[in-house]
Amino acid sequence: MAIVVNKEQCCTYTGTCNCTGCQCEKSQAQCCSTKPCVEACPTDAIKDINGIMIDQDLCDECGLCIDACENGALEMN
Ligand code: SF4
Repeated sequence: MAIVVNKEQCCTYTGTCNCTGCQCEKSQAQCCSTKPCVEACPTDAIKDINGIMIDQDLCDECGLCIDACENGALEMN
């Protein structure tokens, strides 16, 4: 199993975000400044490199990022 990013729902790809406290009316580059998924990951497996990326070698499938994402963009696959 692996954590996958649904790019149609991920604010770092779409520019629209439901994250609490996000100043999303601004440009895409400034979208989702909160990035709760990155904050939630205990293994630093999540990187924002022109969009959220999951390092599957670091991920231990704890699922915390799935719970943290308010856009429902992360799923265990
Ligand atoms: S499942 Fe856990 S370890 Fe894997 S990316 Fe999400 S928060 Fe990080």
